[in-house]
Amino acid sequence: MPFRDLLRQDSEFWEACARHTNRQTARTVQAIYLCDVCAIRLTREAFNERPPIYHGESITGFCGLCNEEKTATLRLWFVCAFCWNVVLAYQKAFVASRAVHDYWKDSVASSFPQLKLSEKEAVRLSPYMRKGKTKKSAAETLRELDFLVEEEVRQQRTPLFHIELKAGPGSIEEMTEFQLDINDSNDIIGVANNTKLPVYIFHVKLEHRYAPPTRYTVSTRIWWTDIFTLLKNRLAVRQRRGEEKQAGYYAPTAFRPIDQFIQELEVRGHAQLRERLMGQPLELT
Ligand SMILES: [Zn+2]
Ligand SMILES: [Zn+2]
Repeated sequence: MPFRDLLRQDSEFWEACARHTNRQTARTVQAIYLCDVCAIRLTREAFNERPPIYHGESITGFCGLCNEEKTATLRLWFVCAFCWNVVLAYQKAFVASRAVHDYWKDSVASSFPQLKLSEKEAVRLSPYMRKGKTKKSAAETLRELDFLVEEEVRQQRTPLFHIELKAGPGSIEEMTEFQLDINDSNDIIGVANNTKLPVYIFHVKLEHRYAPPTRYTVSTRIWWTDIFTLLKNRLAVRQRRGEEKQAGYYAPTAFRPIDQFIQELEVRGHAQLRERLMGQPLELT
């Protein structure tokens, strides 16, 4: 049976953002093509069990969540603009994560079979809730980032470094500045200090491709840097335009194409970074 549950018009959440857990009036109707599995997943995990207000045509196209080409059906929900951006970002996050796994499988695994990549912070769908802790105090206890790389010798695994994933439409070569929220750089610094392990930052370039009425995401390139090099290339810290958040701005030359990451592994650059970290912890911003 296809998923065709509907939010009732007499529900207290009619004209309210489906993702906001507490009632937040939202009269904006958002449209997305989703496969049934993802429509159910979004309803349960992000939309507080509130089903769409409408299911429309089914076509063969790309699902707006899992990014797969299959039968996708138009769904409408009331969702506020802020939350809708979060929802649209899920597809991109799945593709970016896939890009790192694929890179590892295709380019690292054969030369370094003892290095094991595991995803620690897999993309999670979630409703909108207020955060308790301030970000800075969270950074002081945080111990995991997106990926952890361990070295396996005789079935014993030793953690070597973390990888934090950033994704966006920008190409490092064409950027004038690489932007990273201070919250995010503090998370990276906190984890490096707390675990005494260096952190590499991967930037995955994502592009939308259109198969109207659907659209999908592809990853086209990856660049990398490490947290020491990134911080050394910080040009400024500024308020983000129109927002309260602060962001750091970095020279894009901090990054190198991903094909040079193999050399970093060959010379065990992570061990040198670790030594630096043991000598002097990084400072939160
Ligand atoms: Zn799907
Ligand atoms: Zn919302």
